[in-house]
Amino acid sequence: MSNESPVAHDPNCLFCKIVAKQIPSKTVYEDDLVYAFHDINPWAPVHFLIVPKAHIASMAHIGTEHAALMGHIMVLIPRLALQEGCNPYPEGGYRLVTNTGTEGGQEFHHLHFHVMGGPRPWLRG
Ligand code: 5GP
Ligand code: ZN
Repeated sequence: MSNESPVAHDPNCLFCKIVAKQIPSKTVYEDDLVYAFHDINPWAPVHFLIVPKAHIASMAHIGTEHAALMGHIMVLIPRLALQEGCNPYPEGGYRLVTNTGTEGGQEFHHLHFHVMGGPRPWLRG
């Protein structure tokens, strides 16, 4: 973690640049630990990403020191899904996806949770 910034930041990382507002995005939610924003290329009527503000490359990098952060994200997701227009469970709901590593289909190596929902059919997923 850098001495200059409260959170670890990788200057070459797209999602770090989005968190730092160096690249514009449509905000869904923000607090000290996380940033949520609309996916630029949505697969579903609702499709947003939630990322830790700190640069954590993937789920493969998660350890016990991240338990509180992971819990925070998991508690936020149901609330944000409804806020963004996902219909209520069980008829509605949403899909939660975290691609991890090359074989897991991860393109951007800053941990992110996709939340996708809304009426079907969807473009993908
Ligand atoms: P991955 O394939 O790594 O799981 O997902 C990366 C996601 O980031 C993709 O769904 C892609 O559409 C989204 N994405 C890529 N570049 C940008 C961008 O500049 N802004 C936003 N809002 N989303 C992006
Ligand atoms: Zn990053």
